[in-house]
Amino acid sequence: MKCPRCKAPDLKPTLIEEYLPAMGCETCHGSLVSLLYYRHWAETQKLASSPDPAATTSSEPVATTDTTTAIVCPKCARVMAKYKLTGTIANRVDVCSTCDEAWLDGGEWELLEALQLSHELPAILTDSWQRRIRREQSEGTRRSILVRMIGEDGTVRVEEFKNWLGRNQHKSHVLAYLYRN
Ligand SMILES: [Zn+2]
Ligand SMILES: [Zn+2]
Repeated sequence: MKCPRCKAPDLKPTLIEEYLPAMGCETCHGSLVSLLYYRHWAETQKLASSPDPAATTSSEPVATTDTTTAIVCPKCARVMAKYKLTGTIANRVDVCSTCDEAWLDGGEWELLEALQLSHELPAILTDSWQRRIRREQSEGTRRSILVRMIGEDGTVRVEEFKNWLGRNQHKSHVLAYLYRN
C-alpha cells in the first residue's frame, strides 16, 4: 500500500497510540487509521480513563501538514472525503467510507489531542458536526464584515440589541418601526 500523499513509499504498520494500530508513512508522517480499530480503541479509552481536562489542554500550536488537495484511498483508489475538525482550524481529515479508513496527515493526531478531539472522530465525521462548522463559519464571516464596517463596539451593540429583540414579544413592531425610519 502506497502513501496517498507521497505516492512512492510503502505504508508500514505502526502504532499511533498504545493499542491503536495504523499504517504510517515514514516520509510525511501521515497515517492511515482503520475506523473499525479506532472506534474500539476510543470506546475502551473512554471506559478506562476519566477525563482530566488539565492534562490534555495545550496552548502550544501544533505543527501539521494538512493535504489541501484531494487524495485517493490507498486501499481502493477512490477519492477520499474531507471532514473539517472545527470552524477555526483549516486541517481536514480524509476519509474513505467504503474502506472505513481515515488518513491523518503528519501532526494531525497531535492536533486532535491538543483540541481534545482525539476520541471524537466518529462525531466529527457526522453530517451534524460538519453542518455546525459551516454554520459557525458563515456566522463568523458575517460578523467580521460587520466589524469592518462599524467596528467591534458597534457590532457588540448590534448583538445586544439583536438578543434583546429576539426575546421581545413586540419584535415585529420594533422591526417595522426601524424599517420606516
Ligand atoms: Zn507519505
Ligand atoms: Zn477506500
